[in-house]
Amino acid sequence: MTRLPAHDILFTPMQIGPKTAKNRFYQVPHCNGGGYRDPSAVVEMRRTKAEGGWGVIFTEQTEIHPTSEITPFIEQHLWDDRDIPALARMAEAMKSHGALAGIQLAYSGINGPNLYSREVPLAVSGGPILTFTSDPVQARTMDREDIRDLRRWFRNAFRRSQQAGFDLVCLYGAHGFGILQHFLSRATNHRTDEYGGSLENRARFLREVVEEAREETRGEVAVSLRMSLHEAGAYGFSNAELRDFIEMHGDLPDIWDLAHGTWENCSGTSRFKPEGAQEDLVKGIKALTPKPVVGVGRFTSPDAMVRQIRSGILDFIGAARPSIADPFLPVKVEEGRYEEIRECIGCNICVSGDLTQGLSRCTQNTAFMEEWRKGWHPDRARPKGASESVLIVGAGPTGLEAALQAARRGYQVTLAEASTTLGGRVARERALPGLSAWGRVADYRTGQMAPMPNVEIYRDSRLTAEDILSMGAEHVAIATGSRWRRDAVARLHLHPIPTDPAMALYTPDDLMAGNAPEDRRVTLYDDDHFYMGSVLAELLVAKGCKVDFVTPAVKVAEWTDNTLEQGTIMRRLLEIGVEIHLSKAPEVIGAQEVILGCTWTGRQSALAAEAVVMVTSRTPDDGLYHATRALDWQGAGIRSLKLIGDAAAPGPIAWATYAGRTWAEELDAPDRGDDLPFRREIAELLPHDPRTP
Ligand code: ADP
Ligand code: SF4
Repeated sequence: MTRLPAHDILFTPMQIGPKTAKNRFYQVPHCNGGGYRDPSAVVEMRRTKAEGGWGVIFTEQTEIHPTSEITPFIEQHLWDDRDIPALARMAEAMKSHGALAGIQLAYSGINGPNLYSREVPLAVSGGPILTFTSDPVQARTMDREDIRDLRRWFRNAFRRSQQAGFDLVCLYGAHGFGILQHFLSRATNHRTDEYGGSLENRARFLREVVEEAREETRGEVAVSLRMSLHEAGAYGFSNAELRDFIEMHGDLPDIWDLAHGTWENCSGTSRFKPEGAQEDLVKGIKALTPKPVVGVGRFTSPDAMVRQIRSGILDFIGAARPSIADPFLPVKVEEGRYEEIRECIGCNICVSGDLTQGLSRCTQNTAFMEEWRKGWHPDRARPKGASESVLIVGAGPTGLEAALQAARRGYQVTLAEASTTLGGRVARERALPGLSAWGRVADYRTGQMAPMPNVEIYRDSRLTAEDILSMGAEHVAIATGSRWRRDAVARLHLHPIPTDPAMALYTPDDLMAGNAPEDRRVTLYDDDHFYMGSVLAELLVAKGCKVDFVTPAVKVAEWTDNTLEQGTIMRRLLEIGVEIHLSKAPEVIGAQEVILGCTWTGRQSALAAEAVVMVTSRTPDDGLYHATRALDWQGAGIRSLKLIGDAAAPGPIAWATYAGRTWAEELDAPDRGDDLPFRREIAELLPHDPRTP
């Protein structure tokens, strides 16, 4: 395999100030939910990217001083010299295959509530802390002495970054999160001194800090400015002002790293944003500066990347999510292994790991953040154990990942699927409005397995328990998925509610099977709170229905706050005329109406309805598993029989692929007894101080 000559340009080295990147693949800073809590897990995740061929690799946001930290979110700290060793290990891992190592330095100002450090937050202009969570805390306006202190703290951070071995420092001034942006933007800078007012004044701090970065590191470390491409609102740092700023200070940093407005804007899901969505905002900026420009756009197609460079829009292809979904993207393009690229599906489950302070996971790359904890690799599998053959029943995301990983390990794999189409739930969900990219979960896995001689896939094969026993596999995984419930049982109602059989009731499965109400007044009850309710509301509106969206939550699709979609979903529903009923739930379903109860007062109201769509919870399809267990499966030579994925416990697609991977990884593994299923690090205890109790 060789790459297309058209893609050669992606592998031409390029200078970034005093450093040279080996290619144009630039992993922009991205969070991972691990941060300072899981140092080795983050180190090995970044090492995987180095192995995968990225030219530049960055850390996540690194907080430079305790007067500005964003607890509860878990990023990196560079508060004193004791933070250097963990970051030095990260820099070493990043550079292990010739990449440049970068650290993103952040001072959060008006975004840092300091819930952990308890220091008084300092901001360009004081006021309530601007966070996702409306923390009841205000920041104090920095005086000149504070600004001098902050410059010194940045100097300390530059020195420590260089000491840790980083080649680049990135000054964070994007997504509304970094103090550099707060200085530049009239929305957050109300100062009347030399740091406020004109653009020149608002840019003063930035200029001082960049100059001091050069001074402190003797010009040996490259400086990147990560800037917001467009801040909305009357006072926001707009795209026009950004262009003015770059025109005035085009050679200030060694590279311009451009990211759209808020994080929601920059990291939109594929449901709402296509690949390369920020192109209009970036186009033309390169002409304003002699320095290279990097930008993101969920780029997974090498042709799209080449076009960005050839048409003079970007010099480097920035990527966070595509680098998570496939850390080996650069190497695969370099070697012309295009079919092997595991494309990001744009679901933002990775983002949810940060926002829930869990450990990020990726729907596509099941090894993400398990490189150290479990020793998993995105593409390599550990050799198989003593057994030879496995049978997987059900080819949804769980079964497909289980089959692929077991096949990579070298087992003889049989995958049986009841329907003609492989993919299970993603085969159905990919046909819903905005979710077509989710089909990549199935396409990647079926594409990878197609040429493998040790995989046999049987479609249209609904297996029975007897079939399973007769097939002679040593290990069996039942991955038969789940079905949406037809009643209201989920989180609010733990038991069914009175329902008149004359009312037409639908589930998401009905709608996905093409059986949707048309031109009717429909109550859609959402006690699931993720994407399905709003996606089906869109589908119903397209079918001429008048939709009443009823949810016991205080906002629609509330869990999508974690995937940065909630605001966009709300806007979309309002725009298409969906009537929204918050803090309400059906209590009785009549023949022609739904009686709603207010979740706070219990007050009832009647809502006319011709049909009800229940987006509530799912019932595991575990009948086959129990039927097989009831037989003498061990007598038939089966060594292990496991229920996995949605058939065990329904969850998001990422949970399904993870379950498939876990099963395949644990084949023939020694029983670990009560040991933890992963490695972890525990904070170092300092010697006991007798002065404290
Ligand atoms: P998951 O998300 O856990 O992968 P899905 O619902 O997406 O679950 O997929 C389950 C798959 O299992 C579906 O494609 C379904 O057709 C298939 N399936 C269910 N029962 C059987 C069976 N008895 N034999 C073979 N395939 C089955
Ligand atoms: Fe892409 Fe989803 Fe993976 Fe994030 S979790 S990298 S959005 S596939």
